[in-house]
Order: sequence, then C-alpha cells, then structure tokens
Amino acid sequence: MAGGRDRSGGWGRVPRDELRAGLGLWRAEVAGADGITRRRHARVAALTTDAAAHSRFYADHWRGVPAGAPLAEYPPVTKLELMARFDDWVTDPRVRRAGVESFVADPDLIGSSYVGRYFVCTSSGTTGRRALFVHDRGAIAVYRVLNLRAEFHWFTARQWFDLLRRPRLAAVVATGGHFAGAGWIESERRRDPFRAKAYRTFSIQGPRAELVAGLNAFNPGLLMAYPTALGLLAAEQAAGRLHLRPLLAVTGGESATAGTSDRAATVFGCPVRDLYGASECDPLAFGCREGWLHVHADWVVLEPVDADGSPTPAGEPSHTVLLTNLANRVQPIVRYDLGDSVLARPDPCPCGCPLPAIRVTGRHDDVLHLRAADGTIVDVLPLALVPLFDRTRGVRLGQVVQTGPATLRVRLDVDSTADAETVWRGLVGRLAGYLHTVGLDNVELFRAPEPPEGRERPGAKFRQVIGLADDGPFAHAGRD
Ligand SMILES: [Zn+2]
Repeated sequence: MAGGRDRSGGWGRVPRDELRAGLGLWRAEVAGADGITRRRHARVAALTTDAAAHSRFYADHWRGVPAGAPLAEYPPVTKLELMARFDDWVTDPRVRRAGVESFVADPDLIGSSYVGRYFVCTSSGTTGRRALFVHDRGAIAVYRVLNLRAEFHWFTARQWFDLLRRPRLAAVVATGGHFAGAGWIESERRRDPFRAKAYRTFSIQGPRAELVAGLNAFNPGLLMAYPTALGLLAAEQAAGRLHLRPLLAVTGGESATAGTSDRAATVFGCPVRDLYGASECDPLAFGCREGWLHVHADWVVLEPVDADGSPTPAGEPSHTVLLTNLANRVQPIVRYDLGDSVLARPDPCPCGCPLPAIRVTGRHDDVLHLRAADGTIVDVLPLALVPLFDRTRGVRLGQVVQTGPATLRVRLDVDSTADAETVWRGLVGRLAGYLHTVGLDNVELFRAPEPPEGRERPGAKFRQVIGLADDGPFAHAGRD
C-alpha cells in the first residue's frame, strides 16, 4: 500500500493534545486514588463504546455484553484472536494488515508515521507470538506525558538542572526493525532538531567495542537499556573500557533482577529505575525507590488473573495479566492477555505515590555464551536475537535453544498462509548475518522438527532464548 507511506516522517508536535493530557495527569494525581479511579471508569466507558461501534472484531466478541457493563464483564482476548482478524480489529479502514506488514518490512520507515498519522511497531512480547501494533496521535500524546510523569517522580530539582546541562538520552536497544523501543526514539528524533541531537539509539546487535566507543563519545545524561544489556555495560565500565556518568539508568523490556540493578547502580554511581512497558501500550508503570512499579492507573488497567481468569488476590503472583489501554482508539486493547505474572501490593507504597504498586515477572530469556572459532566466549543477548523473529514475516512463534558450545537449534511455528521453507531461509539468513557481526561465523544452526516448547515448568513463562545450562541469565554477565 504505497499510499500509506509517508517518507517525510509526518509527526507534528501535537502540543494541544499533550497539554490537555498533561493537565489531566496533574489533576488526577492531585485528586488522589479516588480521582484516578473515577477517571479510569469514565475512560473505560468511552473506550468500550467506541470499540463496539467501530471495531467489527469487538462488536462480535462482545455480543451479549450490555453497553456500559463493568470492565470485568467483557470477555478477555488473546493476541492470536486479534491478529487472526486484524482488519476487523482496527477502527480505521485505512489501516490494513497487508499495508502495515509492508510498512514494517521497510527499515527506512522506522519512526515515521503510517498513513500520515499512526505509530506502528512489531513485537513478540512475553508470549513469543509476533504481532503488529498501531497507535494513534491521542495515544502518543498520552504516552509522552506518562513518560514525563515517571521522570517527575524520579528526578530531584538538582537532577533536572544537571540533565538540562547534559540533555542526552542513550537507548541501548535492538535496532534495524520497527520495534517499540528503537521506533519510539526514532519517531521522537523526527519531531525537532533538539530531539534529533539529544536522543540516540545504540544497537546491542553490533560488535561490543563499537557500542562502548559510541557511548563514550555520546556521554549520555540518561542511559536506557535492557537489564541484560545494562549488566554487560556495567561489566565494561568495571573493566575500565566504558566511562559513563549517567544521572539515571533506566531498565526495561525484560525482568530486572535486584542483583543486576544494584551492581549497575554501584558501577555507574547513579540510581537505576525500572520501566514496565509493552508494544501494546508504551508506558504501563514506572519503578520507585522502594523497588515497586507504579501503574499509570488513570490510563492503563492491569488485572492480575489466575489460569481460569478469576482475579488474583493482592499479594499473590498471578498466572497472567489482562491489559486495557485507555489511550489508544485505532487498535483497541481491552482485557488483553499480556502473559506476564503480576503481584499487586495490598497496601500503599511507602514512597507516597498514589498510583497502585505492582511487581512483574515478564520476559526472562537466557544470555547465550557461544564459543567463537578462536576459542573466546561471546555473550549473545536474548533481545538481540528475538527481534530477528519479529522481523521475519510468516513466523508465528520462534525459539532458539543452545545445544552445544557453538550450536543452536531453531524451533519454528509458521503462519498457515506462509511457505515454511521461505520463512526458514529468511530467518536463518538473518540469524547468520547477526552471528557474523559478532564474530560467530562458526556457530551452526539446526532446524528442529519439533515446534517451540511452551511453559516447561509449571508457572514458568515461555522463553524464546534458552541457554546451554540453566544457570540463569546473569550468571556470566561479567565474563568477556
Ligand atoms: Zn513506590
């Protein structure tokens, strides 16, 4: 759909939307927990009314549910159900799966707008299943102010002043595709020359020395990275090769462990805070000094539920969590199975934030330790591999399992409409290309006859990247 492409970028500054959203956020926090709940209820009613009227999928899915019913009465949805009826799911007839697929197939369009108005990203998330997400301008304005809300909770006046003197944000992420993290930074860079200079992505997929040199030259005030990547950067800093002095380090995209965060905080001499986000709704919650995540509960509903769909009591880890994104109308996300395990804090958080506090167990893939031809061990981050599946059209679910010092077994579940042979060749080409860039040309890739294996242990989450020994993803973070 060539008409759906906008090579100029097409992002306005949308100051009016942001001002309105920002004012609403401030009012919600001043009003406290009751004010936040009131706003959430009103937005749930508006979203469900709109989705029932304009999304053919939800009109069918919600048949029999009375208009204005409480959120808990709407049946949950899965990614598979929504992706199977993508064109019926979206509320704008200009958005079509075929058009979005060809848009995300073009890396030149990363961060630009689809049909002149939408931010698009592709992701597999915790469940490992590839999907396409479309966000409208109203949602983008809300995400921007929610990110600012997190910063207002994190920074002291002194730190704001220091950040003004060094207003540079480095995001160490997977690049080369329309992924939420890199795509978002790229869309922000297209807004104005200030952001174009201040925001930069650094690829975790390239050689380590290049990443270290790039970060040293950029000297960011704010450092964002996956926890596994921050662990590797902390090792580089401790070894004296990296010389960063960030004011704050922010982790996201995977489940952080206290050990990695503490080590990074010591090595970089700054606080480390976690962000909980998803491609379905960019900011879900932000970390506080007490180690809890506070949900943006005026714009996001997270319902921890058991395997049978009943609500999980506060204080207990859930089987999964249902997400409702109250900001995005073009592709409604209502009671969507996100796949993460969430524990809700039963009492108010001592940090004083009025937003509800949770803990999350999400993506927990392994760092692979592969032997190069010269005998050195190269660490491969899970979120360097996962995007290669996301970028390969026709992959429904993929999994990489290390079976020897230099052997990987690849399990694939392919879309019924795609040719399995073509999908395999496309994927293996990407994997081999990546291994080449990190000096692992010797690593052999085997195509497994069996499909990806799901939850291997009761209560365990699906892992897309599985290491040789089950020694945990951070066991060798300091090794080089
Ligand atoms: Zn707190």
